[in-house]
Amino acid sequence: MKQPIKHSWAEPYKMKMVELLKMTSRPQRLKAIKEAGYNTFLLKSEDVYIDLLTDSGTSAMSDRQWAGMMMGDEAYAGSRNFFRLEKAIQKFYGYKYIIPTHQGRGAENILSKVLIKKGDIVPGNMYFTTTRLHQELAGGTFADVIIDEAHDPESEHPFKGNVDLQKLEALVKKHGAKRIPYVCIATNVNMAGGQPISIKNLKEVRAYTKKHGIKIIHDMTRVAENAYFIQQREKGYEKKSIREIVFEICSYTDGATMSAKKDALVNIGGFLAINDWDAFEEARNLVVVYEGLHTYGGLAGRDMEAMAIGIEESVNDNHIRARVGQIEYLGHKMTEFGIPIVKPIGGHGIFVDAKQFLPHLSQDEYPAQTLAAEIYIDSGVRTMERGIVSAGRKPNGENYYPKLELVRFTIPRRVYTQAHMDVIAESAYNVFRKRKSIKGLKMIYEPKYLRFFQAKFEKLK
Ligand SMILES: *Cc1c(COP(=O)(O)O)cnc(C)c1O
Repeated sequence: MKQPIKHSWAEPYKMKMVELLKMTSRPQRLKAIKEAGYNTFLLKSEDVYIDLLTDSGTSAMSDRQWAGMMMGDEAYAGSRNFFRLEKAIQKFYGYKYIIPTHQGRGAENILSKVLIKKGDIVPGNMYFTTTRLHQELAGGTFADVIIDEAHDPESEHPFKGNVDLQKLEALVKKHGAKRIPYVCIATNVNMAGGQPISIKNLKEVRAYTKKHGIKIIHDMTRVAENAYFIQQREKGYEKKSIREIVFEICSYTDGATMSAKKDALVNIGGFLAINDWDAFEEARNLVVVYEGLHTYGGLAGRDMEAMAIGIEESVNDNHIRARVGQIEYLGHKMTEFGIPIVKPIGGHGIFVDAKQFLPHLSQDEYPAQTLAAEIYIDSGVRTMERGIVSAGRKPNGENYYPKLELVRFTIPRRVYTQAHMDVIAESAYNVFRKRKSIKGLKMIYEPKYLRFFQAKFEKLK
């Protein structure tokens, strides 16, 4: 008998209620995906067995959060829950002024309008779909300053979310610091596969931007997951708690946009946080136009209460260890099956390299979109494309051709079991075994904005 040396990761919670799932047959799934135009976003959730479309708004809330929902103070102005939320953000993240928003992009819209002027450049450690679009709509241009390793699915760099300071410096030299209102720093960079930035790198960015009077705005959607990787990988942080590391990360930035639908464990919500009074004042004025009064920002009192509790639960060491542990378990299973995945394994999902998986398809045949559809057909597991469809078009109409062509298996927080992880890996392998016979797709409908949500496709003959 082998003796265990230490306890493996396991869920620091138990089930109190379950949601029953519909099991479908292959002919049913073939019909459903065809009707959805081979876009997993257009499937009915009813027809999905295990839903890995996103980790956004899909978390299971705790009994404490549900109890908090009953404590909603649904006053139009000055709700008690707003002050609870404000306190939680100040306590766990350290930001001074906060404005709730209906979700992350609500905060991005307001922030971009307040800080960006026409012709400005906004550097960031890789783009995010909604973030970049709001920057562009405000008249700015996004500039990628992430290290090259982030674009290489084979690189095992432990901090693929790091900023390349030379790229940042080149931008400052070329455009002048005055044209750069802020650097957007995402923690656990979504589009790179859930990859962290190190404290060391963040401190360097802070020192450099300070010298030039440039702000840092933190896309803190996955800050707790980033803190976990710092704890595991960065020298000097092994003994620090997730809570301490999260607080330290925020301390090097001037403000933040947050989609609380991710790390903060709620089904809806977000906020804008900012330390500068003048910017806050302008944002507080604008939120009334787009979201609602500054003490609810498009949310109900109960939503703000659930968020305040979720923030506290999200920085718990046991929570985050099990969260990332489950993803690593799935990643190791896939690797054992020989499936090409982005390494190191990220914090919110497994990203399968569709270019390597389906090397016979050109990028114009949408390999990642194709693969996501095939996996659904095999097992009813719903994943999503993160490649050329998600990248969209430049303001001049040309397609972006991103280096990465990925299928994202995003794991909702506290929702699925280890047995579900086994089924997911088995399904990916079933498709992998017959990959040579898989044909690509043709786009037959393309919406103008964020096309990946609603585009439709047809199978190539
Ligand atoms: C989800 C997300 C957003 C946008 O937030 P929404 O709540 O979906 O509007 C912004 N940045 C990152 C990194 C995200 O993952």
